[in-house]
Amino acid sequence: MRLPFLLLGIAAVAVPAAAERMVRPLALADLVNADGSPAGKARIIPRPNGVMLEVEVRGMKPGPHALHLHAVGKCQRSDDFTSAGGHLNPEGHEHGNLNPKGSHLGDLPNVTAGSDGKITAGIRTPMRPFKLMQQIFDDDGTAIVVHEDADDYRTDPTGNAGKRMVCGVFYRPGT
Ligand code: ZN
Repeated sequence: MRLPFLLLGIAAVAVPAAAERMVRPLALADLVNADGSPAGKARIIPRPNGVMLEVEVRGMKPGPHALHLHAVGKCQRSDDFTSAGGHLNPEGHEHGNLNPKGSHLGDLPNVTAGSDGKITAGIRTPMRPFKLMQQIFDDDGTAIVVHEDADDYRTDPTGNAGKRMVCGVFYRPGT
């Protein structure tokens, strides 16, 4: 399934509404830097007609950063998070919404760090919650990665997004 976030007008909002915080998340991730220090958190919340991915990160350089779901739920500092594998891509597409052969299920819109280095984003997608959770909690799990640079939405397979700065492994709430 392609993830047409650009075509469907996915909204990136600065601060999620308080009511959305009452909804039980489907998945959580604690984000770490390459030195192992805490960097923020991510969570996936069911929404009408899709899901909301909320991301909070600190300590980033100001400006846009690529955000992806990666195919393996491993965030090893010793290998600069390359253990997380490539972008989540169960259907064998190429990278990027601007690529005619794209895109990966794990491709997400860029998120922007403010002058304080903080990212606070809510990304709505039309992905079906049950199907997405099957992919996220498959045998080898799934990681979420924030990159050093922006995703150009077309360069296969990485989006030319630079180093993996922050990584987190998804887990189910209460586990
Ligand atoms: Zn991709």
